[in-house]
Amino acid sequence: MTAFVVTCIGHDDALPLPKIDAIIEQIKSALSDAFTLSDQTKKLAENAIDLHISSSSETSWLQLKEQLKSVICAHSDVDIIVQVDNEFRHKKLVVFDMDSTLIYQEVIELIAAYAGVEDKVRDITERAMNNELDFKQSLRERVKLLKGIKIDHLYDEIKQKLLITNGVPELCEQLHANGCKLAVLSGGFVPFANYIKEKLHLDFARANVLETDDEGVLTGVTTGPVVDGELKAETLLQLCEEYGIPKEASCMVGDGGNDLPAMAAAGFGVAWNAKPKVQELAPARLNTSSMVNLLHVFGYSSK
Ligand SMILES: [Mg+2]
Repeated sequence: MTAFVVTCIGHDDALPLPKIDAIIEQIKSALSDAFTLSDQTKKLAENAIDLHISSSSETSWLQLKEQLKSVICAHSDVDIIVQVDNEFRHKKLVVFDMDSTLIYQEVIELIAAYAGVEDKVRDITERAMNNELDFKQSLRERVKLLKGIKIDHLYDEIKQKLLITNGVPELCEQLHANGCKLAVLSGGFVPFANYIKEKLHLDFARANVLETDDEGVLTGVTTGPVVDGELKAETLLQLCEEYGIPKEASCMVGDGGNDLPAMAAAGFGVAWNAKPKVQELAPARLNTSSMVNLLHVFGYSSK
């Protein structure tokens, strides 16, 4: 028998009972005979509840998710997340993207603003994050637009502007308290990823290196391997090995197309307020206003 858990997370402070009942009815009618919905539910928070589904035959969570697709798509104010219900749900490694995930902004746009090329950079970023452009190529094009910017106090000024996403500090604190390792893998740049790592007490950070000349002026290229989708996936697996964590107990959280390979490599993946295409391709979506709700995805109740 395989056990699955379906977590319903409302976008408002509370998930009203009639709404839960409606979702349960929809799930019942969407399920084939291979699956059984249990009467047992578990309230995780005012806005979050676990439902339990079992299957007597060999079925995967992806098959179950496919069956529940119409229910998942029918609710724009509730995220419905399907997982295998086992010990790996309590993740031991959570890897985050940085821009538009741990922080609200895209750092490259903040740098670009100093050269008046913000709009051009934003346009390329949008297309890259929606999976319309190859990430490496898009990074090359955007970094080229930064050529000639003098760093000086710029990095420090930008660090002061970074806004950490609502709920992230509490989430990181709770996950650490539960023995989970935390990492940031960013298609952005090293000084900022390291700054966020320190600020949130993360265990690991990796990002791209912007090259400067002797005068501290950006040359318009990066040095070293580009942190793209493939390298994020590779690094996530390396971290699992290094920390001795089975990959089933890892999760990638991000908003961009370049986070999808790491979501596929990890035990689970959550698209955080992501572009539509990414939401569609990711194992799960979370579109709430506080990232603390990820705790419920991982099976923890609110205190
Ligand atoms: Mg991002």
